[in-house]
Amino acid sequence: MPELPEVESVARALRQNLAGRRLTGLEAPFAGVLDQPLRTTRRALLDKRLVDVHRRGKYMIASFARDGGDDPAHLMIHLRMTGQIFILDGYRPDKHVHVSFDFEGLPVHYRDVRKFGRLTLVEDPLAPAALAHVGPDMLAVRWPEWRRRVGSRTAPIKAVLLDQGVASGLGNIYVDECLFLAGVRPTTPAAALDDATLREILRRARQVLRLAIDHGGTTFLNFTDFYGKPGNFRRQLRVYGRAGEPCRACGGALAKTTVAGRTSVYCPDCQV
Ligand SMILES: [Zn+2]
Repeated sequence: MPELPEVESVARALRQNLAGRRLTGLEAPFAGVLDQPLRTTRRALLDKRLVDVHRRGKYMIASFARDGGDDPAHLMIHLRMTGQIFILDGYRPDKHVHVSFDFEGLPVHYRDVRKFGRLTLVEDPLAPAALAHVGPDMLAVRWPEWRRRVGSRTAPIKAVLLDQGVASGLGNIYVDECLFLAGVRPTTPAAALDDATLREILRRARQVLRLAIDHGGTTFLNFTDFYGKPGNFRRQLRVYGRAGEPCRACGGALAKTTVAGRTSVYCPDCQV
């Protein structure tokens, strides 16, 4: 499942390749991934230029406008489980491509094997009402707000970090990596952690996300970037997917447990 770093990689690629280009075509062989009718979506976006792409957590919001900035419209894209957006030379869309954009001759495809992703017209690119339930972005949240949102929760710290209403963008992979680096067990109640530890978790979460962004994300199953290339952060993983293998810090065997319904890998010696 694409997480924040993968989504950031896609958002950057969209910005770099499409900013300033005009949307001249929009087709939807399977319009079910569009939240509004295709006709409405076309009317809102066609003949406008892509101005910018914002990201909040795992959501991207592409802003379009007419020349001079008139008549802005915003398309929120949520890749969910298996959504992909890419541009590939000579690519022939398969049956999993549900929406195809044409930017003045440059084709961009939305592909989604499981069709859980959504493309939604929203009224506000920075704080759409549809995201009112979603917490601040992990890379933007500041310490006082972080302490307020996380510090009083009695749930296991891992469950709190996975809760997108607390802060958005951390999924299973990066939570396990972050807690390993912070030396905290995933099962520890958030409220039992002191300020220094909460700060360290925030710092490590950002570090892991930024490193993963630099590597184009982590590839599992079916995430590829905008250019059809897999991310290569997987080689950097310290604990995720490594239960039973030796800890890269102390050499002891990594253990596995379940928190919030998710498999969680940790080092019994390095994480207390
Ligand atoms: Zn260890």
